[in-house]
Amino acid sequence: MGLISGQQYIERINNLQPELWIDGERVTGKLSEHPALKGIMKSKAKLYDLQMREDKKDLMTFQNESGERSGMAFSPPKTKEDLEKRRLAFQEWAKTSGGLLGRSPDYLNTILMTFTQSADLFSSQDPDFSRNLRNLYESAVQNDYSFTHTFVHPQVNRGRFFFDLSSNQIAAHVKEKTDDGLIIHGARLLATQGGLTDELIVFPQGGIVDAPMANAFSIPANTKGLKFIARESFDYGKTHFDHPLGSRFDEIDSIIVFDNVLVPWDRVFFYENLKLANELYLETSFYPHTIHQVTSRCIVKSEFILGVIQLMVNTINIGGYDHVQEKVADVIVGLEAMKAFVLSSEMQAKVDRWGLMTPAPEPLFAAIRYYAKIYPMFTDIIQLLGASGLVSIPGEKDFNSPIKEDLEEYLQAANAGAVDRVKIFRLAWDLTMSAFGSRQTLYEQFFFGGPLNLAKMIYQNYDRSESTEWIKHFLSIEDDKGNSE
Ligand SMILES: Cc1cc2nc3c(=O)[nH]c(=O)nc-3n(C[C@H](O)[C@H](O)[C@H](O)COP(=O)(O)OP(=O)(O)OC[C@H]3O[C@@H](n4cnc5c(N)ncnc54)[C@H](O)[C@@H]3O)c2cc1C
Repeated sequence: MGLISGQQYIERINNLQPELWIDGERVTGKLSEHPALKGIMKSKAKLYDLQMREDKKDLMTFQNESGERSGMAFSPPKTKEDLEKRRLAFQEWAKTSGGLLGRSPDYLNTILMTFTQSADLFSSQDPDFSRNLRNLYESAVQNDYSFTHTFVHPQVNRGRFFFDLSSNQIAAHVKEKTDDGLIIHGARLLATQGGLTDELIVFPQGGIVDAPMANAFSIPANTKGLKFIARESFDYGKTHFDHPLGSRFDEIDSIIVFDNVLVPWDRVFFYENLKLANELYLETSFYPHTIHQVTSRCIVKSEFILGVIQLMVNTINIGGYDHVQEKVADVIVGLEAMKAFVLSSEMQAKVDRWGLMTPAPEPLFAAIRYYAKIYPMFTDIIQLLGASGLVSIPGEKDFNSPIKEDLEEYLQAANAGAVDRVKIFRLAWDLTMSAFGSRQTLYEQFFFGGPLNLAKMIYQNYDRSESTEWIKHFLSIEDDKGNSE
């Protein structure tokens, strides 16, 4: 099969019936008709339809080993041109949502592709485990599966690194090993799109110290005992006019509960294995390939934000002011810097030990750290430029009511009629101030681990030896006794 249509995606998830809880109720019936989910499922379905289009075939897909077409994110890059192709495919999908769908399927398909290319690493515990990963990858490629994932333990007590081994372990852990597989019990954070994908993939967080939690596996979203507990939906059932973004792109985020879930042995990639849990991220090209997808999307998102800002500026005619130009320039600098980071990573790409053409990690780590810093600035700029315009935004019903003429008169702008002006400012509000918009700001700062962790990784991995040698040479210092590197 290789590729599925949007309708096939919707039917498959409707048939799966995962245990998804929203607002104290288990979702029954078709997920695609649930008020909280129908917007995002429709948007996701459009991604599948897009990659099936004949005119997008070369851009969005590649020929898999069975000779069929599959989504580009599954393709293992072998050349720098392949990396460029991957970027362009990521960006084509991102354009459908202005980069606001953080977890479009290409994110986890990239992760699965990367881990699978390094599958031999997983055979150190059991040769079958690397085969399990390859099998999953092959069926994902054949069936165009989508995944959600959870890497993080519940936020109960961050005073210690992770939980002690007590009788009341909260974080999901191996409770028992049986002939059939592992019994997993406990909770995990935080599955964006939890319940809206075919599979849940579980990997341990790096730096873990408790063996019962050092597990990696993937299970179908409807596995018995697996619960997705979603936050309140930010799709409040409003029209696209009123909530242009929340009504389309709210991905929902779910806490995952494993209630004595059986993970069959043929779905296990490793278990209770601290060595593999800690090697996984260093020995594979997980970081560069995943961040390559992320930053390609962030470029599109920045272009979208720039477009919104410039339309606000034009609409109320504030582009002549110096500070407005400075603010717009700051957004342009952010956008151009992101493009440069990604291109630099592709130019410096090298083949990794698993044969994958891998973008250079240094510019990508810089990009993801930088974006977490500038994204709140983008939000701020929109608020500082929009001012009261961001709350003078009557809804669609107001424009269809007896006060319509008042609105058209008093909400007109220098360069737009009232309706267009409100459309633009509502978009800016939904991007930055609504529940949907503020979650976007949180997302860009945390979805890839906290900003502090990213900074620490950069500090610990960036090679500064040439710089320090240069300074030592300049100062004629022979022996550096410093121990900070
Ligand atoms: C919108 C959103 C979507 C997400 N989607 C997913 C997803 O799909 N899949 C997934 O696996 N994860 C997802 N995440 C989770 C994400 O990976 C975590 O938020 C991130 O790793 C940070 O962990 P935490 O939220 O538990 O924060 P915490 O680690 O609890 O941090 C809270 C605060 O405490 C500080 N802190 C904690 N520990 C330390 C320490 N040791 N030293 C110094 N300071 C410390 C942090 O810096 C931070 O300021 C998502 C998060 C968000 C916000």
